[in-house]
Amino acid sequence: MPKSPSLLDLHLRLSKFFGPLGWWPAETPFEVCVGAILTQNTSWKNVERAVANLKRECVLTPHCIDVMPIEHLAELIRPSGYFNEKAKKLKSFTAFLMNEFGGRIEAMHALDTGALRHRLLELPGLGPETVDSILLYALERPVFVIDAYTKRVFGRHGFFEEKITYAKAQEFFHAQLPADARLFNEYHAEIVHLAKDFCLKSKPLCGHCPIPCAFGRATIAETKTAKTDKPARRSDTAA
Ligand code: SF4
Repeated sequence: MPKSPSLLDLHLRLSKFFGPLGWWPAETPFEVCVGAILTQNTSWKNVERAVANLKRECVLTPHCIDVMPIEHLAELIRPSGYFNEKAKKLKSFTAFLMNEFGGRIEAMHALDTGALRHRLLELPGLGPETVDSILLYALERPVFVIDAYTKRVFGRHGFFEEKITYAKAQEFFHAQLPADARLFNEYHAEIVHLAKDFCLKSKPLCGHCPIPCAFGRATIAETKTAKTDKPARRSDTAA
């Protein structure tokens, strides 16, 4: 039986297939943090529209968001959905940044990853996926970001159950991969692209997948059987 590929093998194949993805799409580490908060429960396109509004008004800085009336902030980020909730989250994140680090993301480097993760997780509305995205993409800390795409792809590859908890999935990646922020950066981006382009929730495009798995082969076989088993139409048998 052929040996199952390791997580590192799969990353190498994905990296060969997609090439460098250059995440996170942002101009500054603070913009990464804002994007990580705004992307909760919405598409990236909507985040881009909200960020463009903030940039147009020249308010995409910790100080401006901190002093801006929350109603105005909510209006500017309206395209990202759940805008009242997200305005509160942005306000509490920027207040934390201003009060504890003088509004400088770089000053967060004074804390080690565990301590910083703990502090960020205490902020209202910031869950592990958002916090880890900030740690990895704004602060270049070697923290593997888990999301529904990661659980789906690697669940289908048989590494764990798709319903695995965030913490357990992250523990798994941390145990299998070297603690390398650049590797984690690219790998998470590759997973997102794979899940959006091929490993769809229903009807995945397994025939074209760069990292085929047993689940995918079974899906292809089932589709072929379903097509073969389809009863012949009257016109097919009339001759
Ligand atoms: S073969 Fe199909 S199920 Fe497996 S990872 Fe690729 S797209 Fe997903």
